[in-house]
Amino acid sequence: MTRPDLCLDFANTRYWRGQATPTETLNAPTDLAAWLKIPKAPAAKEFAIAIDLRETLYRLFDAQAQGKPAPARDLEALSQALGSAPARTTLKRVRDGYDWDIDVRSGTALALLAPVLWSAGDLLAGPRLDRVRRCANPECGWLFLDDSRAGKRRWCSMSACGNRAKARRHYHKTKEEA
Ligand SMILES: [Zn+2]
Repeated sequence: MTRPDLCLDFANTRYWRGQATPTETLNAPTDLAAWLKIPKAPAAKEFAIAIDLRETLYRLFDAQAQGKPAPARDLEALSQALGSAPARTTLKRVRDGYDWDIDVRSGTALALLAPVLWSAGDLLAGPRLDRVRRCANPECGWLFLDDSRAGKRRWCSMSACGNRAKARRHYHKTKEEA
């Protein structure tokens, strides 16, 4: 089963995007193979295409999280990728349900990333688009789907960013009181 926010997971493989040196987790084709849980690393050319697509997805959903219109060329790039990716035609039974059966033998970025691309299209065209958020820590830039009932989640996760912001507020408050 594919998680609906798989595309955001992929966009977040580069994070601390607001810092001078963001943290890059996909430095080589083998890193992408590990993320995709596939045995064979893609060719360097396909790896480069995958990284380009990741940045396209980040820009699309980052714009959405900020209430800005998507850059037209990014929407076009995603549409083109979706059009060239393997079609969603065949289902297969997996342990906990069903999944799309994708022919990845070509080893192309579009075949390997098909579930990521589909999740991006489904999220953009689906009912939860207004729940796409970017972490309120400007240095972080992590994208997430706000599943809270009130829809007011601001931080990627309390331990990484929320606690730090809370500690900062506490620090300023105690300094003012002193
Ligand atoms: Zn964060």
